[in-house]
Amino acid sequence: MHKFSHFGQRPNGHSLGHCPVPPLMLHNTLTDRQEPFHKEDGKVSMYVCGITPYDYPHVGHGRVYVTFDVLYRLLRFLGYDVTYCRNFTDIDDKLINRAEKELNDPADYLIIANRFIEAFHEDLLSLACLSPAYEPRVTTHIGPIIAFVEGLIAAGKAYATPIGDVYYSIKSFPEYGKLSRRSIADLEAGARVAVREDKHDPLDFALWKSTDVAPGWESPWGFGRPGWHIECSAMAKAYLGETLDIHAGGMDLIFPHHENEVAQSEGLHNKIFARFWMHNAFVRINQEKMSKSLGNFVTLRDLCNRFHPMVIRYYYLIHHYRSPLDFTAEDIEGASKSYQRLCLALEKVPAAMIDEIRNSSDPLLQSMLAALCDDLTIAKFFGLLFESLSELGPNEASVIKGLINEVLGLNLVPLPKAEVVITPEIQQLLDEREAARAAKDWARSDALRDQLKILGVEVQDRKL
Ligand SMILES: [Zn+2]
Repeated sequence: MHKFSHFGQRPNGHSLGHCPVPPLMLHNTLTDRQEPFHKEDGKVSMYVCGITPYDYPHVGHGRVYVTFDVLYRLLRFLGYDVTYCRNFTDIDDKLINRAEKELNDPADYLIIANRFIEAFHEDLLSLACLSPAYEPRVTTHIGPIIAFVEGLIAAGKAYATPIGDVYYSIKSFPEYGKLSRRSIADLEAGARVAVREDKHDPLDFALWKSTDVAPGWESPWGFGRPGWHIECSAMAKAYLGETLDIHAGGMDLIFPHHENEVAQSEGLHNKIFARFWMHNAFVRINQEKMSKSLGNFVTLRDLCNRFHPMVIRYYYLIHHYRSPLDFTAEDIEGASKSYQRLCLALEKVPAAMIDEIRNSSDPLLQSMLAALCDDLTIAKFFGLLFESLSELGPNEASVIKGLINEVLGLNLVPLPKAEVVITPEIQQLLDEREAARAAKDWARSDALRDQLKILGVEVQDRKL
């Protein structure tokens, strides 16, 4: 008898070959607990909030999409038929502003969006993320969005104002706050400012915003644009139905974005919107969240200039997705060394095919799989492997390499020697830093030095 005899069955009622399937435990934000994930019919729907494509994706984006790529791969490995949907917010003030600035015409916002959607695809491909089945864009789903808003108005959950805005009425949804565990009373206490006169309640949020200037669309409420939150409710419904098995994204989306999605979808359908809500923690630099708005971000393509994309993927994976990741060059250096060690140890071993892995009863493989199924505890997965790396049998090494390939998406090819190339982006950071030094803005100059160091550029300062 092996040690995982208590493990469950595959969703379709068969065991996973001879390999007993551990119960998949996932942390659910909705209950703030780890819960067993199981779907009787074997079909899983998964929606992950996508990006607003107005710039190159940064290291924070990479973490979200690598995390949920592993979940997607794991579910498929466990035998589920997964339908994965990830949206693009291709209409937004940031896109319009960039089009106005760069192309002198706000109506050209789709040129900007297309450019950065392409860049996003390239970057995610280099990180070996699999493509979702659907990648809907807001601008091609205005019809379903309008229909959704009309439904909410008919259900008494939303109202239009005289100038043609439409708001969701928070008071019409008593469960508001259940995902982020906030009470309406507490939210109201913090919402004194910026009360718009035509809102019934300061907490009400926009489903549709009127505008006098293009871009926009005709609607029953006049010319306007959809609010941000409504797109995910409408597009998730269009591709995955009224109840999703898994809805995921970065932790910063829990409130208000996901809370508002719950209000919209459950307000309209009167049924649970997502059974599991999963969120990954931030990437931080110097204790601050990496973000475009704080200007402390490193783009994925700049980072790939210094480190091999597989090292970056490995670096994400060894940090548990629910803990903040404090991003430092030393830490990636360390990850690079252990990844290289793994590649060299398994270099000569052929990776087993998926059925061989599923049919293996190797105890080490099973413990590693159990770590993965324990809310994606990948550090433990590798800890177990490194403990036994020098004494792996050939078949064992082959199924483990296969599992790493298949589920973690790491190809384990030994890395070529990396060289740092000064890209235009790096040159721009160097120039900015010179300017900051000239202006004696030491904080900015230090921040830029840290950013450059991560990209492999050590700055030697001369006296000013
Ligand atoms: Zn969303």
